[in-house]
Amino acid sequence: YQKKNHPCSVGVFNVSMRQRILRENILKNGLPLAIDKQQLRVVFQPIVQAKDQNIVSFEALLRWNFHGENVSPDEFITIAEQYGLIVPIGTWVLQQSCLAAAQWAEYLKNVKPSVSVNVSLLQLNSPNFIDTVTSSLNIANLSANKLTIEITESIFASDKAILFERIKKLQSLGIKVSIDDFGTEYSSLSVIQDLAADIIKIDRSFVGKLNSNGLPIIEAIKQMATKLNYTVVAEGVETIEQVKVLTELDVEMLQGYYFGKPLELVEIKDYLLKHSI
Ligand code: C2E
Ligand code: MG
Ligand code: MG
Ligand code: MG
Repeated sequence: YQKKNHPCSVGVFNVSMRQRILRENILKNGLPLAIDKQQLRVVFQPIVQAKDQNIVSFEALLRWNFHGENVSPDEFITIAEQYGLIVPIGTWVLQQSCLAAAQWAEYLKNVKPSVSVNVSLLQLNSPNFIDTVTSSLNIANLSANKLTIEITESIFASDKAILFERIKKLQSLGIKVSIDDFGTEYSSLSVIQDLAADIIKIDRSFVGKLNSNGLPIIEAIKQMATKLNYTVVAEGVETIEQVKVLTELDVEMLQGYYFGKPLELVEIKDYLLKHSI
């Protein structure tokens, strides 16, 4: 075969490598200024209770508009982690999220959704993490039971002792802890055994395959979760069929485009007024 057309040929590899490094450089130079330049904002995606579809929470999702491009958080969070920016950025997200939740707690008498904030391992492990969380709550005057911290299970590759201690501390303050993207890492089972978190979020890859092998897996996760006293959230719910199946499986909470894409902060009041009974 012709070497130059082979996908593994040295030339092709070098070009894409160079492009990747160039892009990473541009992003890592832009990111430290993003907060001050008001390029970052937090959007909020509804999480509903399956049985009555009441809104129980909003997940805070960070957005970066960098000279007109919306850079995906999967890309820039990794860069923030690599270049020591995740702690200040994560602190800012926590503060904005608590302020937002305090605001929307005022809109309706009986509906006071919590806010779920994604936290990276480096942030959770940083020495001031608990102080950052409590001061974010205090400044916003938000009660601790209105905050959930989402952690991704891939973090369990790291120091478990610190992690367990931090999670216990958060829970003792009244904050809920959620294991995000559950099922996507090999350590899933040992994680929920060892770690007394409160919520499991089933990764959307399983929800997207409910017609094939996703169903028995979700069924098994749900059974296990119930026995271990976890609440289950299904991520990536996009169709009414998925809603029906997941509700029949007694999955407690649902999140996905079917119920709403992430909303701008200013859109939340209307959304709550429209979607609450
Ligand atoms: P995640 O925490 O698992 O968030 C859910 C992701 O799925 C979000 O992507 C959301 O927009 C997307 N999503 C929700 N419903 C649906 C659906 O029905 N279909 C499909 N196809 N996608 C859906 P997003 O906003 O791009 O965020 C990607 C990841 O970036 C998040 O995954 C989270 O791990 C990370 N991330 C986002 N914001 C933050 C943050 O403030 N801090 C940290 N550490 N990580 C963040
Ligand atoms: Mg999440
Ligand atoms: Mg997730
Ligand atoms: Mg994720």
